[in-house]
Amino acid sequence: MVMAQSLFIALKNTHPDCQIDVLAPAWTLSLLERMPEVSKAIVMPLPRGKFGLIERIKLGLSLRSKGYNQAILLPNSWKSAIPAFFANIPVRTGYIGECRWGLLNDARKLDKNLLTMTVQRFVALGLSVDAPMPPTCPKPALTISKDRQQAVIDKFQLMPTPAAPVPDRLAAYTPSMEIKILALCPGAEYGPAKRWPTEYYAEVARHKIDQGWQVWLFGSDKDKADAAQINREASGFCTDFTGRTSLAEAVDLMSLANTVVSNDSGLMHVAAALDKKVIAIYGSSNPGFTPPLNDKARIISLNLDCAPCFKRECPLGHTHCLTGITPDQVLEHITLTQSGRK
Ligand code: SF4
Repeated sequence: MVMAQSLFIALKNTHPDCQIDVLAPAWTLSLLERMPEVSKAIVMPLPRGKFGLIERIKLGLSLRSKGYNQAILLPNSWKSAIPAFFANIPVRTGYIGECRWGLLNDARKLDKNLLTMTVQRFVALGLSVDAPMPPTCPKPALTISKDRQQAVIDKFQLMPTPAAPVPDRLAAYTPSMEIKILALCPGAEYGPAKRWPTEYYAEVARHKIDQGWQVWLFGSDKDKADAAQINREASGFCTDFTGRTSLAEAVDLMSLANTVVSNDSGLMHVAAALDKKVIAIYGSSNPGFTPPLNDKARIISLNLDCAPCFKRECPLGHTHCLTGITPDQVLEHITLTQSGRK
Protein backbone atom coordinates (compact mmCIF):
# COMPACT_ATOMS: atom_id res chain seq x y z
CA MET A 1 0.00 0.00 0.00
CA VAL A 2 2.85 2.39 0.77
CA MET A 3 4.36 1.76 -2.65
CA ALA A 4 0.96 2.36 -4.24
CA GLN A 5 1.18 5.94 -3.01
CA SER A 6 3.80 6.55 -5.71
CA LEU A 7 1.10 5.77 -8.26
CA PHE A 8 -1.39 8.08 -6.53
CA ILE A 9 1.12 10.93 -6.56
CA ALA A 10 1.99 10.28 -10.21
CA LEU A 11 -1.71 10.36 -11.13
CA LYS A 12 -2.19 13.67 -9.33
CA ASN A 13 0.89 15.07 -11.06
CA THR A 14 -0.54 14.32 -14.50
CA HIS A 15 -4.25 14.88 -13.67
CA PRO A 16 -4.37 17.34 -10.76
CA ASP A 17 -8.18 17.31 -10.64
CA CYS A 18 -8.66 13.57 -10.65
CA GLN A 19 -10.40 11.98 -7.71
CA ILE A 20 -8.74 8.84 -6.41
CA ASP A 21 -10.78 6.32 -4.45
CA VAL A 22 -8.96 3.20 -3.26
CA LEU A 23 -10.49 -0.22 -2.72
CA ALA A 24 -8.39 -1.82 0.00
CA PRO A 25 -8.41 -4.13 3.03
CA ALA A 26 -9.68 -2.51 6.22
CA TRP A 27 -6.33 -2.77 8.00
CA THR A 28 -4.70 -0.44 5.45
CA LEU A 29 -7.18 2.41 5.93
CA SER A 30 -4.98 4.24 8.42
CA LEU A 31 -2.28 4.43 5.75
CA LEU A 32 -4.73 5.78 3.18
CA GLU A 33 -5.88 8.42 5.69
CA ARG A 34 -2.31 9.69 5.68
CA MET A 35 -2.13 9.98 1.90
CA PRO A 36 -3.48 13.39 0.84
CA GLU A 37 -3.93 12.21 -2.76
CA VAL A 38 -6.66 9.76 -1.76
CA SER A 39 -10.22 11.09 -1.64
CA LYS A 40 -11.90 8.03 -0.25
CA ALA A 41 -11.09 4.50 0.89
CA ILE A 42 -13.54 1.71 0.11
CA VAL A 43 -13.21 -1.31 2.36
CA MET A 44 -12.71 -4.60 0.56
CA PRO A 45 -15.26 -6.83 2.31
CA LEU A 46 -13.42 -10.09 1.58
CA PRO A 47 -10.38 -11.44 3.43
CA ARG A 48 -7.17 -11.88 1.48
CA GLY A 49 -7.13 -15.05 -0.61
CA LYS A 50 -10.89 -15.66 -0.55
CA PHE A 51 -12.33 -15.99 -4.04
CA GLY A 52 -15.90 -14.92 -3.13
CA LEU A 53 -17.27 -14.56 -6.66
CA ILE A 54 -20.76 -13.48 -5.58
CA GLU A 55 -19.45 -10.92 -3.09
CA ARG A 56 -17.11 -9.48 -5.71
CA ILE A 57 -19.91 -9.16 -8.24
CA LYS A 58 -22.13 -7.50 -5.64
CA LEU A 59 -19.33 -5.11 -4.73
CA GLY A 60 -18.89 -4.20 -8.39
CA LEU A 61 -22.62 -3.62 -8.86
CA SER A 62 -22.68 -1.40 -5.76
CA LEU A 63 -19.98 0.80 -7.30
CA ARG A 64 -21.79 1.36 -10.62
CA SER A 65 -23.49 4.53 -9.46
CA LYS A 66 -20.12 6.16 -8.65
CA GLY A 67 -19.40 6.78 -12.32
CA TYR A 68 -15.71 6.01 -12.18
CA ASN A 69 -13.81 6.69 -15.44
CA GLN A 70 -10.96 4.29 -14.88
CA ALA A 71 -9.99 1.40 -12.62
CA ILE A 72 -6.30 0.66 -12.13
CA LEU A 73 -5.74 -2.85 -10.79
CA LEU A 74 -2.51 -3.39 -8.91
CA PRO A 75 -2.94 -7.09 -8.03
CA ASN A 76 -2.48 -9.49 -10.94
CA SER A 77 -5.12 -12.00 -9.90
CA TRP A 78 -8.22 -12.77 -11.95
CA LYS A 79 -10.53 -12.31 -8.98
CA SER A 80 -9.23 -8.82 -8.23
CA ALA A 81 -10.52 -7.62 -11.61
CA ILE A 82 -14.12 -8.80 -11.07
CA PRO A 83 -15.46 -5.76 -9.13
CA ALA A 84 -14.17 -3.26 -11.72
CA PHE A 85 -15.76 -5.28 -14.53
CA PHE A 86 -19.17 -5.42 -12.83
CA ALA A 87 -18.93 -1.75 -11.83
CA ASN A 88 -19.06 -0.98 -15.57
CA ILE A 89 -15.94 1.15 -15.37
CA PRO A 90 -15.14 2.04 -19.00
CA VAL A 91 -11.34 1.80 -18.75
CA ARG A 92 -9.93 -1.10 -16.73
CA THR A 93 -6.15 -1.04 -16.61
CA GLY A 94 -3.86 -3.74 -15.29
CA TYR A 95 -1.27 -6.32 -16.22
CA ILE A 96 -2.59 -9.31 -18.12
CA GLY A 97 -1.67 -11.44 -15.10
CA GLU A 98 -3.92 -14.48 -14.83
CA CYS A 99 -5.27 -14.27 -18.40
CA ARG A 100 -7.57 -11.35 -17.62
CA TRP A 101 -8.27 -10.50 -21.25
CA GLY A 102 -12.04 -10.27 -20.85
CA LEU A 103 -11.99 -8.43 -17.56
CA LEU A 104 -9.45 -5.79 -18.57
CA ASN A 105 -9.73 -3.61 -21.68
CA ASP A 106 -6.45 -1.77 -21.12
CA ALA A 107 -4.38 -4.90 -20.55
CA ARG A 108 -0.65 -4.23 -20.29
CA LYS A 109 2.10 -6.73 -20.88
CA LEU A 110 4.60 -6.63 -18.03
CA ASP A 111 8.22 -6.40 -19.16
CA LYS A 112 10.02 -7.56 -16.02
CA ASN A 113 13.42 -6.71 -17.46
CA LEU A 114 12.39 -3.11 -18.06
CA LEU A 115 10.30 -2.60 -14.93
CA THR A 116 12.54 -4.20 -12.35
CA MET A 117 10.96 -2.60 -9.28
CA THR A 118 7.49 -3.14 -7.87
CA VAL A 119 6.94 0.60 -7.59
CA GLN A 120 7.78 1.10 -11.29
CA ARG A 121 5.18 -1.51 -12.18
CA PHE A 122 2.56 0.35 -10.16
CA VAL A 123 3.39 3.80 -11.54
CA ALA A 124 3.52 2.53 -15.14
CA LEU A 125 -0.16 1.57 -14.91
CA GLY A 126 -1.04 5.22 -14.32
CA LEU A 127 0.72 6.34 -17.50
CA SER A 128 -0.24 5.93 -21.11
CA VAL A 129 0.90 2.77 -22.79
CA ASP A 130 3.43 4.67 -24.96
CA ALA A 131 5.00 6.65 -22.09
CA PRO A 132 8.79 6.30 -21.73
CA MET A 133 9.73 3.43 -19.45
CA PRO A 134 10.86 2.84 -16.78
CA PRO A 135 8.88 5.71 -15.29
CA THR A 136 10.08 8.23 -12.77
CA CYS A 137 8.54 7.22 -9.46
CA PRO A 138 7.55 9.85 -6.93
CA LYS A 139 8.47 8.90 -3.40
CA PRO A 140 5.68 7.91 -0.99
CA ALA A 141 5.14 10.52 1.72
CA LEU A 142 2.73 9.88 4.57
CA THR A 143 1.43 13.00 6.26
CA ILE A 144 1.66 13.25 10.01
CA SER A 145 0.00 15.86 12.18
CA LYS A 146 1.26 17.28 15.47
CA ASP A 147 -2.10 16.39 17.01
CA ARG A 148 -1.74 12.74 16.14
CA GLN A 149 1.81 12.71 17.46
CA GLN A 150 0.70 14.31 20.71
CA ALA A 151 -2.12 11.80 21.02
CA VAL A 152 0.29 8.85 21.00
CA ILE A 153 2.72 10.64 23.30
CA ASP A 154 -0.13 11.11 25.78
CA LYS A 155 -1.55 7.64 25.37
CA PHE A 156 1.76 5.87 25.95
CA GLN A 157 3.00 8.47 28.48
CA LEU A 158 6.25 9.00 26.63
CA MET A 159 8.91 11.20 28.18
CA PRO A 160 11.91 12.89 26.50
CA THR A 161 14.40 11.28 28.85
CA PRO A 162 17.11 8.65 28.37
CA ALA A 163 15.94 5.05 28.43
CA ALA A 164 18.33 4.03 31.18
CA PRO A 165 18.95 5.66 34.57
CA VAL A 166 21.45 8.48 34.75
CA PRO A 167 24.33 8.41 35.53
CA ASP A 168 24.83 4.67 36.02
CA ARG A 169 24.85 3.70 32.38
CA LEU A 170 25.39 7.00 30.63
CA ALA A 171 28.94 8.15 30.72
CA ALA A 172 28.42 10.42 27.74
CA TYR A 173 24.97 11.80 28.61
CA THR A 174 24.37 15.37 29.77
CA PRO A 175 20.87 16.68 30.57
CA SER A 176 21.02 19.26 27.77
CA MET A 177 21.39 16.53 25.13
CA GLU A 178 18.54 15.97 22.72
CA ILE A 179 17.18 12.48 23.30
CA LYS A 180 17.25 10.44 20.14
CA ILE A 181 14.88 7.61 19.43
CA LEU A 182 15.93 4.46 17.63
CA ALA A 183 13.04 2.38 16.27
CA LEU A 184 13.70 -1.31 15.74
CA CYS A 185 11.39 -3.45 13.59
CA PRO A 186 12.59 -7.04 14.17
CA GLY A 187 9.64 -8.78 12.51
CA ALA A 188 8.96 -9.86 8.96
CA GLU A 189 5.68 -11.60 8.31
CA TYR A 190 7.20 -13.37 5.31
CA GLY A 191 9.42 -15.69 7.30
CA PRO A 192 12.73 -16.21 9.14
CA ALA A 193 14.81 -15.76 5.98
CA LYS A 194 13.95 -12.06 6.23
CA ARG A 195 14.53 -11.67 9.98
CA TRP A 196 17.89 -10.44 11.24
CA PRO A 197 18.74 -12.32 14.47
CA THR A 198 17.10 -10.95 17.62
CA GLU A 199 20.38 -11.13 19.56
CA TYR A 200 21.89 -8.78 16.98
CA TYR A 201 19.00 -6.36 17.39
CA ALA A 202 19.54 -6.58 21.15
CA GLU A 203 23.21 -5.71 20.79
CA VAL A 204 22.33 -2.62 18.74
CA ALA A 205 19.71 -1.68 21.33
CA ARG A 206 22.16 -2.01 24.24
CA HIS A 207 24.74 0.07 22.47
CA LYS A 208 22.39 2.96 21.68
CA ILE A 209 20.79 2.88 25.16
CA ASP A 210 24.27 3.25 26.61
CA GLN A 211 24.67 6.37 24.47
CA GLY A 212 21.51 7.90 25.96
CA TRP A 213 19.08 6.96 23.19
CA GLN A 214 15.60 5.60 23.66
CA VAL A 215 14.98 2.35 21.80
CA TRP A 216 11.44 1.57 20.69
CA LEU A 217 10.39 -1.85 19.42
CA PHE A 218 7.70 -2.10 16.73
CA GLY A 219 5.76 -5.03 15.37
CA SER A 220 2.57 -6.99 15.53
CA ASP A 221 1.37 -9.61 18.00
CA LYS A 222 3.43 -12.17 16.10
CA ASP A 223 6.63 -10.29 16.92
CA LYS A 224 6.03 -10.09 20.66
CA ALA A 225 8.27 -13.00 21.61
CA ASP A 226 11.21 -11.64 19.60
CA ALA A 227 10.69 -8.15 20.98
CA ALA A 228 10.51 -9.50 24.52
CA GLN A 229 13.81 -11.29 24.01
CA ILE A 230 15.45 -8.13 22.67
CA ASN A 231 14.13 -6.15 25.61
CA ARG A 232 15.32 -8.79 28.11
CA GLU A 233 18.80 -8.69 26.62
CA ALA A 234 18.70 -4.90 26.85
CA SER A 235 17.92 -5.14 30.60
CA GLY A 236 14.31 -4.04 29.98
CA PHE A 237 15.31 -0.52 28.90
CA CYS A 238 13.56 -0.67 25.51
CA THR A 239 10.01 0.59 25.05
CA ASP A 240 8.17 -2.34 23.58
CA PHE A 241 5.19 -1.39 21.41
CA THR A 242 4.78 -4.77 19.71
CA GLY A 243 1.17 -5.90 19.82
CA ARG A 244 0.16 -2.75 21.75
CA THR A 245 -0.60 -0.37 18.90
CA SER A 246 -2.92 -0.08 15.97
CA LEU A 247 -1.18 0.45 12.65
CA ALA A 248 -2.19 4.12 12.86
CA GLU A 249 -0.54 4.49 16.26
CA ALA A 250 2.57 2.66 15.06
CA VAL A 251 2.85 5.10 12.16
CA ASP A 252 2.43 8.14 14.40
CA LEU A 253 4.92 6.77 16.94
CA MET A 254 7.44 5.95 14.26
CA SER A 255 7.16 9.50 12.96
CA LEU A 256 8.79 10.55 16.25
CA ALA A 257 11.84 8.33 15.75
CA ASN A 258 15.19 9.62 14.65
CA THR A 259 16.43 6.45 12.96
CA VAL A 260 14.76 3.15 12.08
CA VAL A 261 16.46 -0.22 11.74
CA SER A 262 14.20 -2.70 9.99
CA ASN A 263 14.08 -5.95 8.16
CA ASP A 264 12.60 -5.86 4.65
CA SER A 265 9.00 -5.53 5.84
CA GLY A 266 5.94 -3.35 5.61
CA LEU A 267 7.17 -1.22 8.50
CA MET A 268 10.37 -0.52 6.59
CA HIS A 269 8.29 1.02 3.80
CA VAL A 270 6.26 2.99 6.34
CA ALA A 271 9.47 4.35 7.87
CA ALA A 272 10.77 5.33 4.43
CA ALA A 273 7.48 7.09 3.65
CA LEU A 274 7.86 9.02 6.91
CA ASP A 275 11.19 10.29 5.59
CA LYS A 276 13.09 8.59 8.40
CA LYS A 277 16.73 7.62 8.32
CA VAL A 278 16.19 3.95 7.58
CA ILE A 279 18.72 1.15 7.87
CA ALA A 280 17.13 -1.63 5.82
CA ILE A 281 18.43 -5.17 6.33
CA TYR A 282 17.89 -7.63 3.48
CA GLY A 283 18.21 -11.41 3.64
CA SER A 284 16.56 -13.68 1.11
CA SER A 285 14.85 -10.85 -0.77
CA ASN A 286 16.14 -8.46 -3.40
CA PRO A 287 16.71 -4.83 -2.39
CA GLY A 288 16.59 -3.88 -6.06
CA PHE A 289 13.00 -5.11 -6.35
CA THR A 290 11.41 -3.51 -3.29
CA PRO A 291 13.87 -0.96 -1.91
CA PRO A 292 12.91 1.62 0.71
CA LEU A 293 11.82 4.64 -1.33
CA ASN A 294 13.72 7.30 0.53
CA ASP A 295 17.00 9.08 -0.23
CA LYS A 296 18.11 8.79 3.39
CA ALA A 297 17.75 5.02 3.46
CA ARG A 298 20.79 2.80 3.74
CA ILE A 299 20.49 -0.76 2.49
CA ILE A 300 22.52 -3.58 3.98
CA SER A 301 22.64 -6.70 1.85
CA LEU A 302 25.51 -9.15 1.55
CA ASN A 303 24.62 -10.10 -2.04
CA LEU A 304 25.67 -13.72 -1.51
CA ASP A 305 25.80 -16.01 -4.53
CA CYS A 306 22.69 -17.78 -3.28
CA ALA A 307 20.76 -14.50 -2.91
CA PRO A 308 18.11 -13.51 -3.56
CA CYS A 309 16.43 -16.88 -3.13
CA PHE A 310 13.11 -15.31 -2.04
CA LYS A 311 12.52 -18.25 0.30
CA ARG A 312 10.70 -17.91 3.60
CA GLU A 313 13.19 -20.24 5.27
CA CYS A 314 16.78 -20.74 4.21
CA PRO A 315 16.98 -23.80 1.93
CA LEU A 316 20.64 -24.16 2.91
CA GLY A 317 19.82 -24.16 6.61
CA HIS A 318 22.22 -21.37 7.68
CA THR A 319 20.70 -18.00 6.64
CA HIS A 320 24.18 -16.57 6.20
CA CYS A 321 22.67 -13.69 4.23
CA LEU A 322 21.46 -12.34 7.58
CA THR A 323 23.77 -13.84 10.19
CA GLY A 324 26.74 -12.44 8.23
CA ILE A 325 25.51 -8.86 8.82
CA THR A 326 26.99 -7.83 12.16
CA PRO A 327 25.62 -5.46 14.78
CA ASP A 328 28.79 -3.39 14.32
CA GLN A 329 27.91 -2.86 10.67
CA VAL A 330 24.43 -1.67 11.57
CA LEU A 331 25.80 0.60 14.31
CA GLU A 332 28.25 2.05 11.83
CA HIS A 333 25.40 2.83 9.45
CA ILE A 334 23.45 4.49 12.26
CA THR A 335 26.46 6.66 13.02
CA LEU A 336 26.78 7.57 9.37
CA THR A 337 23.10 8.55 9.12
CA GLN A 338 23.60 10.86 12.08
CA SER A 339 26.47 12.57 10.37
CA GLY A 340 24.44 12.84 7.18
CA ARG A 341 27.12 10.97 5.25
CA LYS A 342 26.25 8.57 2.45
S1 SF4 B 1 19.80 -19.53 0.41
FE1 SF4 B 1 21.12 -17.76 0.67
S2 SF4 B 1 19.79 -15.97 0.31
FE2 SF4 B 1 18.46 -17.73 0.67
S3 SF4 B 1 18.03 -17.64 2.86
FE3 SF4 B 1 19.79 -19.01 2.61
S4 SF4 B 1 21.60 -17.72 2.86
FE4 SF4 B 1 19.82 -16.37 2.50
